[in-house]
Order: sequence, then C-alpha cells, then structure tokens
Amino acid sequence: MKLFRPTLLSLACLLVLPAPASDLPSLGDSSSGVVSPGQEHMLGRAWLSMLRGQVQTLSDPLLKDYVESTIYRLAETSQVEDRRFEFILMNSPELNAFAAPGGIIGINGGLFLHAETEAEYASVLAHELAHLSQRHFARGIEEQQRMQLPMMAALLLGVVAAAAGAGDAGMAAITSSQAAAYQSQTAFSRQNEQEADRVGLLNLERAGYDPRAMPAMFERLVREYRFDQKPPEFLLTHPLTESRIADTRNRADQAPAGGKENSLRYQLISARMKLQFENTPGLVAKEFQARLSDNPKDDVARYGLTIAQIKAGQFETARSTLAPLLAKAPGELIYNLAQTELDIDSNHPGQASERLKRLLQLYPTSLPVQQMQVDLLLKQGNLEAASRLLEDMVSQRSTDPGIWYQVAEIRGQTGNLTGVYQARAEYFALVGRYEDAFQQLDYAKRRSTSFQEGARLDARLKELQNEKRMIDELFN
Ligand SMILES: [Zn+2]
Repeated sequence: MKLFRPTLLSLACLLVLPAPASDLPSLGDSSSGVVSPGQEHMLGRAWLSMLRGQVQTLSDPLLKDYVESTIYRLAETSQVEDRRFEFILMNSPELNAFAAPGGIIGINGGLFLHAETEAEYASVLAHELAHLSQRHFARGIEEQQRMQLPMMAALLLGVVAAAAGAGDAGMAAITSSQAAAYQSQTAFSRQNEQEADRVGLLNLERAGYDPRAMPAMFERLVREYRFDQKPPEFLLTHPLTESRIADTRNRADQAPAGGKENSLRYQLISARMKLQFENTPGLVAKEFQARLSDNPKDDVARYGLTIAQIKAGQFETARSTLAPLLAKAPGELIYNLAQTELDIDSNHPGQASERLKRLLQLYPTSLPVQQMQVDLLLKQGNLEAASRLLEDMVSQRSTDPGIWYQVAEIRGQTGNLTGVYQARAEYFALVGRYEDAFQQLDYAKRRSTSFQEGARLDARLKELQNEKRMIDELFN
C-alpha cells in the first residue's frame, strides 16, 4: 500500500485548493488544523463507495428507514453540526457500528440482535455520533505528525476492516496492519472512547432515553463474551475495560430516573431483523410461535410470526396471525405495511392499492411506503406510474445505489436508453465500480442528441473521474 508517498499535488487540484509553489501542499484550513471538514466530507463519501463495493448491505426499506430516522432524531440533540449523513446498513449478524469522517454512519444488522432495548441501541448510536461531533478522526491525525490526508485514508482502511469483520476475504486485500495500528492509536484511543461515552451519555439523556442503558449493555456484553476467544469486532475496537464501564455507570446513575428504555417499534424492527439472519429456515418462526402460544398478547412475536409466514408463502395463515394486531392498532405503519405486502403477494392488488393510497397521504416521503407502491405498480404493469415515482424517489435519495438500480431497470422498460446508461453510471459509481460508470456515461454520450445533454454528461464524467483519482491516490 502506497499510503505515505508524497503524491498530493494532483489531489490538491482535486480539492480545489490554492496550489503552492513547491513542496507538499498544505491541505488543511487554518481553523481546524490539518484536515478540514470539507475534505472529511469528500473523503468520507469516496471511501463509502469503496466500502459499498466490498460488503453486503441490507436492502429492506423498512429496516433502512428505521435506522436512518432514529439516527437523525438522535442527532438533533447531539453536538454534531454537519448532519449531512450517509448510512450503510450491513448484512452481518455480528455486533458492530462505526462512524467515519464526513458523516458516514455504518451499522451491522446484528446491532439489533445484541441491543435488547431501544435505549441500548441508541446508546451505541450516541457513542458513534459523539465520535463525529468531537471530530476524533481529524484530531487523531493532528496528534500524530503532520501526515495529513493519507493518514486519514489509513484510518479509514482500518474502519473498513472493522466494518467488514475479520473473516471477510475480500476485505483482507485492502487491510494493512499499519492501518489497523493507526486506528487503534488514534480514532479508538482510550481518551477518545471515554469522551465518546461521556458525550454520548449526555445526548442519550437529552434525547429522553435512560442513559443507564449504556453501562447496562456494556456489562451484559462483558458477561457474554468473557470467555470468548473471538469477541465481536465492536468489542475489539471498543475494549470494555473495568474503568470504562465504571465511568459510564457512575455518570449514568446521576441522571434522573424515568428516561425511555424501550419501545414496541424497536422490538418489532428487531423481530424483523432476526428473520434476516436465521440460519435454518423456519427456526425463528418456531420461536415466535412458541412465544405466542405462551402469551397470545405478545405483539412482537405475533408480528415476527406474520412476517415469517408471508416469507414462507403461507398467506392465509399470515392474514389471521396479523389480524389482531391491526384491530388493536389500525394506524400502526409497520402493521399496515405487513398487510399491504401480504395483499400484494397473495394477489389482492385492489386492497393493497387502497391501503397504500391512505399510507401515502399520511407518509408521502416514507421510503418503505414508496417502495411498496412501486412494487405494486410494477406488479400491475403500470410502468409509467412506477417510473414517475421512482424518479421522484431517486431525486430525494440520489446517493442510494438500490434506487438507482431500479431506476435503470424501469428506464429500460420504458425505452429511455440514454437514461438507462446514466442511471447505471450512478449506480456503479456509488458502489465503487468507476470504470463501469465511465463506460456507461460514454454509451449515454454516444446516444445523446442535444449539445446540452452532451455537456452535462461530460461534466458528470469529469466529476466521477476526479473521485476515482482521489480514491486511487489515497487507497491504492
Ligand atoms: Zn468508539
């Protein structure tokens, strides 16, 4: 890995900084030291596309939406100033979460399997948000020699490794012991961890949660993994020392009682997540069934069982499992989405359509509702309406590769070939496949009929080429 070579000149141009006459350019601004927030932002996004190409993500819109909205809500009471977040929800049952420079927040689906309450889940997120608000990456680099951006790149590689988990062969190629060493020295130094805990605890309290959830989760994890040879990655990057636990316990205990601990919605989402990670098909459904037999009022088990039955194609059983939930809480979005999914899958498009109309009035920009509507329209063969909605969605979520993928598909079906190439280019760029993106833009350009369109495609090509060059400079 060529991380420390002084080839920063081309990078400086890319970052549109005044070019110095000689020697290494200074990449920082005066207020923040070495790495400016603007640079963090750009680097973080370039790095995210690389990460997306390396790990598997979860595409379930309801799960994505839950993660995103809970983080935005928690950010409101945090000290994070720049809230232009990007999220990545990884398809891994391991416990892990990370924050990377530029507002990137990644969590493993496994966080839901290990955090037993919403407050515990929020305590991990609050800790990660605190790493962002305290700018631990940039500050960590400043404490080292003035190694500047390449050091940041090394840090990020460490985060990639952590995010992907040690066992992933694809990741091993871009991991280096050097990066890992810097990661442990800087971003995850003991002081930074302690600061993230403390700032996170305050945020939890301000957001109305019981901050005791943080030490409670730490204590349980220590008990669980005390004799484990291979603890989850989160514990490797966030070692739970006795003093750390005692510190969070002391601080949390000073908070007034009465903070929020859990919510039905968090438990429903966790039940849904559980089904993503079952090793043996039907096993989790049996668990939910057993819980429901013990206690017919266990709404979480009932919801989990419903989803399992829909997945297994047992539509009529699912319908009767779900019915008591909708009778009890007719306005609950999660139950309504389950019923809509059931209606679409079991060929009741009329009922699905009516329900979706109501849901879209209540939640016009909700990702899971919009996606369900797209699914229904496609099933009904209404390409034009599906296309309109998808174009609308992609303008709201222009950095979501999953939406671009669907946009490419539907543009193909509606005969918009130039549009297909453009959408594919965006998709490829977002998952780090820049060469493929360039090729698609080239195809688009050859088909373009107006000067304006050609100029727009050229401009986009130039932007993506710059992104690619930055990645090559920093990460290869
Ligand atoms: Zn941390």
